[in-house]
Amino acid sequence: MLTGDQYLESLRDGRRVFINGHSVPDVTTEPLLRGPALAAKLGYDRHYRPGDDVHGPYFFIPTSVDELRETQRQQLHWDFPTISTAAALLMVLTAASRMRAQHPQYAERALAYFERSKRRDIRVVQGITDAKGNRALSPGKQDDPDLYVRIVDRAPDGVVIRGAKLHISSAAVAHDIMVMPTKRMKAGEEDWSVAAAVPVNAPGVRIINASFAPRPDLDPDFYPYSSRHVMTEGLIVFDDVFVPNERLFLAGELEHSATFVHSLGLWERLGSVGSYVRLADTLVGLAHLVAEANGLLRVAHIKDKIAEMIVYATLIRAAFEAAMTHATFTPEGWASPDELFTNAAKYHAAANFSTMVRNLHDIAGGSVLTAPSLRDLHNPETAADLRKYMRTMEGVDAGYRMRLFHAIRDFTADAYGGWKHVTVIQAGGGLYAQKVVVTNHFDMEAAKALARETAGVTASGEVLSGLHRFGPHGYGHGADEGA
Ligand SMILES: Cc1cc2nc3c(=O)[nH]c(=O)nc-3n(C[C@H](O)[C@H](O)[C@H](O)COP(=O)(O)OP(=O)(O)OC[C@H]3O[C@@H](n4cnc5c(N)ncnc54)[C@H](O)[C@@H]3O)c2cc1C
Repeated sequence: MLTGDQYLESLRDGRRVFINGHSVPDVTTEPLLRGPALAAKLGYDRHYRPGDDVHGPYFFIPTSVDELRETQRQQLHWDFPTISTAAALLMVLTAASRMRAQHPQYAERALAYFERSKRRDIRVVQGITDAKGNRALSPGKQDDPDLYVRIVDRAPDGVVIRGAKLHISSAAVAHDIMVMPTKRMKAGEEDWSVAAAVPVNAPGVRIINASFAPRPDLDPDFYPYSSRHVMTEGLIVFDDVFVPNERLFLAGELEHSATFVHSLGLWERLGSVGSYVRLADTLVGLAHLVAEANGLLRVAHIKDKIAEMIVYATLIRAAFEAAMTHATFTPEGWASPDELFTNAAKYHAAANFSTMVRNLHDIAGGSVLTAPSLRDLHNPETAADLRKYMRTMEGVDAGYRMRLFHAIRDFTADAYGGWKHVTVIQAGGGLYAQKVVVTNHFDMEAAKALARETAGVTASGEVLSGLHRFGPHGYGHGADEGA
């Protein structure tokens, strides 16, 4: 395994990285990127154990519901590149399992890649989302064929790829990019049907980054959350990058163009839902603390808003648990979360997030945005004013209350909060993506049977009359009809 310092050293590998109008010679010292690098370093140090045959828990394949639950529980304490690695590698194994019958050579490569990554203790990010150009047109119909990553040359020992993957979380501080098609490809789009693990420092790879990271001169007390939790996303250009065969998992096989993204969607969304359990509970906790600090805990409409937030948080937790309890198993015995519950949970968490933040802001009041900084509380010229006017009652002094407002602003209404708002909706695919999956996995036949029983019709369209109308449950009150 790598230590944190060895990890930082491994990032000085000639990678071509840009941010804010300049190139970055060393991501570990660039002010806007060192936060993600240091978070990953801490993760390496936390997991490090000496020895040749040890590996991190993120290279673990769950084979039971309990193991699945335990890995998800552990993930809540991991840095993002480590979470991403676990999802990318479980994805590659899930995809290998689904492809094994038709393409055993890809399944073997995928397994070998999993083992190599484990030995090297690398971090892998997920390169799915293409530039996509005109969304109404498929990859082969775009006016520029590079708008989806594609194969531009083939040789006996590998392929050359060109294109870009956008929004890729933590790419600048990882080692490999797991490239895969963003959607199912059609006949004639074989060249766009490509999946591969590409090193971040491969010749031809360039990463142009964005980050909400607070600018380095800002006060960490004013940003109590985002000064500790920083992310970066990269637009990764693949400028004729050679991919050797051992890193190539799909090269034109249309029937499996969507296998990777479906497999990843499952693991990525389950991980997101696990983090949303915590996110939703945090929103409830902030709402409660600020209501308490403002003396509003007993007010009816405040209690009602907090109750609504509790229902939101509890349903995410329930569906997360159900997704793991109803896991399915591959022929190899590997556990996979249930698709219906995972996607329904992701949709519920994302679709209602802004309403929950609205409740929090409504409860908290305008000081979410206007509370002066703690530095003003420490300035002798302004300290007394703030102590007097920002306190509310005995036990709630200005410093405590101002800190709550800073946390709410930082978490939900400032650069990080804005990032989170969009990320909850888009990362892992927009709301529509989850609706497609739930529709495909819902037991529609059972629902239709209930509907027919309710209507008194049969599957062949016959209308039942009289007592025949009542199905196996007879007539009278159903269990769902109340007293
Ligand atoms: C912070 C953040 C981190 C991310 N991290 C990663 C990552 O690590 N790896 C990765 O691969 N991606 C990542 N993403 C990308 C994310 O998966 C995409 O943003 C998402 O899938 C939407 O794609 P898009 O941004 O291109 O928007 P668009 O595709 O333009 O979608 C916008 C809207 O248009 C709709 N739409 C688009 N095309 C069609 C169509 N043909 N028919 C009908 N409706 C359509 C969508 O459903 C959506 O509602 C990240 C995104 C964010 C915000």
